[in-house]
Amino acid sequence: MLREIGDWLMRNQRAIRATQWIVVVAYLALLVAPTLLPLPSRTAHLWTNLTLFAQFVFWGLWWPFVLLSTVLVGRMWCGLLCPEGAITEAVSQHSRGLAIPRWMRWKGWPFVAFAATTIYGQMISVYQYPKPALVILGFSTVAAIATALLWGRNKRVWCRFLCPVTGVFAVLAKLAPLHFRVDSQAWDSWRKPHPRGPAQLVNCAPLVPIRTMKGGSACHMCGRCSGYRGAVTLARRSPNHEIVHVAGSDPRPMETMLILFGLLGIAAAAFHWSGSAIYVEVKQTLAEWLVDHGVMWPLETVAPWWILTNYPDLNDVMTLLDGAVLLGYILVMAIGAGGAVAACVALSTRLLGRWSSARFHHLVQSLIPLAACGVFLGLSMTTVSLLRNDGIVFSLIGPLRAAMLIGAGVWSLWLGWQIAGLYGSAARRVVALLPLIVAVAASGAVWARLFWSL
Ligand code: SF4
Repeated sequence: MLREIGDWLMRNQRAIRATQWIVVVAYLALLVAPTLLPLPSRTAHLWTNLTLFAQFVFWGLWWPFVLLSTVLVGRMWCGLLCPEGAITEAVSQHSRGLAIPRWMRWKGWPFVAFAATTIYGQMISVYQYPKPALVILGFSTVAAIATALLWGRNKRVWCRFLCPVTGVFAVLAKLAPLHFRVDSQAWDSWRKPHPRGPAQLVNCAPLVPIRTMKGGSACHMCGRCSGYRGAVTLARRSPNHEIVHVAGSDPRPMETMLILFGLLGIAAAAFHWSGSAIYVEVKQTLAEWLVDHGVMWPLETVAPWWILTNYPDLNDVMTLLDGAVLLGYILVMAIGAGGAVAACVALSTRLLGRWSSARFHHLVQSLIPLAACGVFLGLSMTTVSLLRNDGIVFSLIGPLRAAMLIGAGVWSLWLGWQIAGLYGSAARRVVALLPLIVAVAASGAVWARLFWSL
């Protein structure tokens, strides 16, 4: 059945491309049109106001549920529906076709781009207003087009190396129970049905080395290679397989950074700051100190809306002090939360035997379910609050969140237990699990604090 679905995708690339262009039109319309309209009044509803509707589509549906879909079916969003992927690949047909430069291949871009976009998004309130959404998503689209015009041909160079969410999708796709499996023996023994016939070709737009592909991180699940050389098949796998049995042979320090300091740190802090008593307290203390010393400009100076939130008509303005405390809060919390979890995982690593950075990176991978669940729940807060504003209330949302967080925490520990089993004796494995339990509990508590006052 799955094999047929993969082959169907391969045979229906034209229909997929047509669907992508429908998504591109809807994406551009929802991105641009709200910026031409006045901001919605307090009595507007999302089904009567285009700005609220676009806000709901982008931040209430698209973003959280694309993340969820990545966990469920891999990066099918990227390969089948993403408007930016479709645009960049179409433009790439007219590319100058330059070789991909070394700087672009730097593995730190996904972390840097994710961190910068998340923090900048908070500074300009991207979830609340249409112009910031246009700046952030529009910049990404323009950069994707520029990249396509210069590097590669018929490829998705932007998606592979620079997209701000490619790292997050790559991490989450490891949990997917679906992947394109490559049988390397069948690949090597394949012979053309007609020796003089044309060579069978496949264009893997995100530049995945298909012959040696072991996991689903980089694959966009576009289906073009389904059946290639009789070796590639859409298949089921255990959602634990890639993390336990593949990730260890390919340690990725920048992915560790993304999980610890990006998803468990910066993303968590970005959801926390607006409701944080600590944020308010620090701001007040600093403001009093500044007033006592006669330094008023940080409290009075505001910046344009594309640097710091500035909507005086709605009583929503950030001063330089607000912006500085926001930045400080996110960075300190990211370093604190990520650093504490890193210390626990480092202890687990050491308890399994002599220090090994490869083992450390492998154990960090066990935290992916918890990180994915936290970010999904954080993003879905926008979904819930926008619907609640329109009278749609989910009474079971609290228990559902608790069940998901607990489930993700248990899944992370199960992964940690299995990874530890690859490296140490039974006794060491049990001891090594203890710091991991602390890491999962601490990280889970950070996310739980977002929904419940602990
Ligand atoms: S390996 Fe490449 S061609 Fe094959 S499904 Fe993945 S993205 Fe598509």
